[in-house]
Amino acid sequence: MPADEFLKFVEGGSWTNFHATVTVPIKGLWRIRNPSPAASLDNMRTTAQRLQRLIRHAIDRQVRLRAVGSRWSFSDIAAAEDGWALQTSQLNHDFIVGPALCDAAFDGDPASLVLAQAGASVAEINLKIEKPSRRRSFRTSGASNGQTIGGMIGTGVHGSAVDMGAFESEVVGLQLLTGSRNLWLENPDRPIMSAQFAAKLDAELVRDRLLFRAALVGLGALGIVHSVMLRTVPTYLLRSYRRKMEFAEVEFAMNSLSFDGVPLPRPAERPYFFQVVVHPDPKERIAYVTTRYREECPPGHRIDPSLKSGYDIGNDLPALFSKLVDALPAVTPALVKLAMAQQLAPFEDRLNSPGEAYTYTTSKPGSAGAALAVPANRLSEALALARQAYQTVPGTPATFACRFATASPGLLSFVQYARTCIIDIDGVENSKTRRVMEAVRSAFDANDFPYSQHWGKLNALTAERVRASYGDKVDAWNLARATLLPSPAERFVFSTQTLEKAGLCQ
Ligand SMILES: Cc1cc2nc3c(=O)[nH]c(=O)nc-3n(C[C@H](O)[C@H](O)[C@H](O)COP(=O)(O)OP(=O)(O)OC[C@H]3O[C@@H](n4cnc5c(N)ncnc54)[C@H](O)[C@@H]3O)c2cc1C
Repeated sequence: MPADEFLKFVEGGSWTNFHATVTVPIKGLWRIRNPSPAASLDNMRTTAQRLQRLIRHAIDRQVRLRAVGSRWSFSDIAAAEDGWALQTSQLNHDFIVGPALCDAAFDGDPASLVLAQAGASVAEINLKIEKPSRRRSFRTSGASNGQTIGGMIGTGVHGSAVDMGAFESEVVGLQLLTGSRNLWLENPDRPIMSAQFAAKLDAELVRDRLLFRAALVGLGALGIVHSVMLRTVPTYLLRSYRRKMEFAEVEFAMNSLSFDGVPLPRPAERPYFFQVVVHPDPKERIAYVTTRYREECPPGHRIDPSLKSGYDIGNDLPALFSKLVDALPAVTPALVKLAMAQQLAPFEDRLNSPGEAYTYTTSKPGSAGAALAVPANRLSEALALARQAYQTVPGTPATFACRFATASPGLLSFVQYARTCIIDIDGVENSKTRRVMEAVRSAFDANDFPYSQHWGKLNALTAERVRASYGDKVDAWNLARATLLPSPAERFVFSTQTLEKAGLCQ
């Protein structure tokens, strides 16, 4: 057994994700931490060795092993069914790299890079990079900040920065551990770190386009991601507004991502962030529109790092609401409208750093989310199909939130269309919400409508759907997986039944 003071094992039991949408029996739970809290490369090397011993043990025992971050995925992507769950959230070191460790071809500023251990949360990294001595920020992240860096690239988390890709777009290198290899992976078109740097992690430097693109959204199925090099930009501010508008006023902008003539708060400026929440009932024509505009951060600006609860639609609705609407379906539409009006109250002119704007949620079990990415220029068609599908399960306590991002570099980035709209179907966790989600997917399938699904949200994956969404990229990802994990025994360790059924992990 590889268990020791820093790698604890609890045998048997069951595993549940944070929102309790998934519960599975497991063979046991591993919890790993670094040998000491102070970040050091010595710790990193020791932890990597410990992780590799665990991987080899899983291979010997023929037990599946799933690295788990914050357990925030609504889908079963992080569920180690009949296997071992590996809790990584205490692996939270982060580093600034020195210029001497960068590749000679890297002409950027090393201070723009942050090396994060995979279990660090976005919140932890934001606190560090936005502090006065660093004043750096991520260009994009999710709506809130509890996810780990490993979990972010595990599923390809996105925000709604209109002209940015999903979070994996910010990855310039990553450390991947298998039973026999410790790799520092980079894109050959963009060398960043030197072989000397990789050696400090005991890793081999591998610049390979296929492997890098596969690892950008790894689904926990390519090995254990131990650390990730992320780029940052000088801290900026977001001036934010939320207004209640007529859907017709923003529909053109949602399809075109062209904002000329749209009556948004700052009509002359292109929003950095754009989100539109609508009621799924086609008769409801109101849209809750959030816009954020990017500004320079003046030198003396104080960022407040205190932990505050922010806004996240669908995640503040208690389980009680779910039970109520199940019992009293007739009152559902009124309750949903009330919840929308309360949770999406308009505001004007709030000024925050990204770390302040995308902050903590009072997220509770009892909510559920699906997210379907579609080409933004066909959004009106997609919404019409989705709203039609909603009518087959009338009165469901759910909302549609439309967010926007650009095509992202992972082979399995679900944010994959040049201009992508991500339609979030958020609601309370009950059978009706799940039926609406499936009705929307089925409507897209039946109409051959192009879409892909968030790996970390409720998604009912099938091999047909995954193939229809990603085409040949499925084969490329499987090829990369076979290259990284040449032995069938190790491929089994990093597989799940769901991914196998979805045509991945073959
Ligand atoms: C309140 C809330 C808000 C959300 N907001 C957004 C949003 O704005 N945008 C968005 O896109 N999604 C959003 N989601 C979905 C969520 O961000 C994703 O599902 C994300 O992947 C969860 O991160 P996690 O750290 O909890 O990872 P987990 O759910 O624990 O794991 C996700 C995947 O990553 C893999 N993984 C984790 N760590 C490692 C590692 N070290 N090595 C290899 N694989 C690993 C797991 O095996 C699994 O496959 C939200 C979810 C919630 C609950």
